[in-house]
Amino acid sequence: MKNKKFYLTILVLLIFILSACDSNTGESDPYQIVVSTSIIGDVAEQINGGILNIKVLLAPGVDPHSYQPTPQDIAAITEADLVLINGYGLEEYLNSILNDEEYNEKIVVVSEGIEIDDGDPHVWLDPTNVVVWAENISDAFAVLQTKNETEFRENARDYINQLNELDNWIFETIDQIPMENRVLVSDHLSMGYFADRYGFEQAATISHSASSLAEPSAHELAELIDLIIDLGLPAVFIGHDVNPELAESLTSDLGIMLVELYIGSLSTDEGPASTYLELMRYNVEAIASALK
Ligand SMILES: [Zn+2]
Repeated sequence: MKNKKFYLTILVLLIFILSACDSNTGESDPYQIVVSTSIIGDVAEQINGGILNIKVLLAPGVDPHSYQPTPQDIAAITEADLVLINGYGLEEYLNSILNDEEYNEKIVVVSEGIEIDDGDPHVWLDPTNVVVWAENISDAFAVLQTKNETEFRENARDYINQLNELDNWIFETIDQIPMENRVLVSDHLSMGYFADRYGFEQAATISHSASSLAEPSAHELAELIDLIIDLGLPAVFIGHDVNPELAESLTSDLGIMLVELYIGSLSTDEGPASTYLELMRYNVEAIASALK
């Protein structure tokens, strides 16, 4: 009987000590970061290295122009410590939130500082612009969690080295495309930064808009068909994340190739473009093999 009471006392004491330990030494919750697209999510994770908690709003394959946030997404944005977006009109669904002062302070426009072309938000198709992303993201993370500043800065430096290697590789790979063939027609105005960097001409787009949501008029479509025939273009390029119907019927009528690229989103983990670096390599190889 005495023994039992003794053990019970010890047990109660142990539970008390353990619970006290737990509340004193337990790590505080990591900061919550919400990012809009899977491409920004990958770049942010390269710099984060698993320290902060990153949630990506748009699943791979989802078009950032047409996306509609769920109530859970709005809740995640409300609770987040930082929200990383591309900005410059890409995240049309965030327009109302961006104008709300409650959210203003925690929103980081990762493309801040990049010279914007004709309202086109697709800056990441030039890797030198992603260097700016990496700098902006590591700055934002370092301010949020100063104790890990060194890690964030080192990760950013390593990643920027990889971006510079990618840039060199793209120049080498497009060397096989004759200058006169460096002409791009894509579904919407999205290839301008890539074209400027690597000496292509973005000759026309199916919809005359920097958003995939616009549709061409019959007149615009007729002009586009004339241009493709006049220039003898072998292919039209389209993002995996947009509705292909119109581009499919156009290219099949003209008897030319429809080449799918990864523009607004990564592929799934099993696909060929599960990181930004893979995405660019995939796109450049597809463009080179269609136009060489
Ligand atoms: Zn787009």
